[in-house]
Amino acid sequence: MPAERTATSGTEAPAGIRVVARPDTCEGNALCMLALPDRFVLDERSRVVVEVAEVDEADYDDVAAAVRNCPTGSLRMEF
Ligand code: SF4
Repeated sequence: MPAERTATSGTEAPAGIRVVARPDTCEGNALCMLALPDRFVLDERSRVVVEVAEVDEADYDDVAAAVRNCPTGSLRMEF
């Protein structure tokens, strides 16, 4: 099982981080897509699809914010 940690702002991103989604719990409010449209999209059922899973250091804080701001907890980072 991959280790998880609480996403925090301003931390260095370890290598090999991925963001993953649970479409079954997504409510399709598009908050993640509006914040990071190159990374998250909604499918025809308005469920999240991760287009770019790899998270590099430059993107880490923005992705961490999207994970924190998902109201259904449907996004998480894997380390
Ligand atoms: S923010 Fe969460 S609930 Fe909203 S579309 Fe993205 S994954 Fe789904």
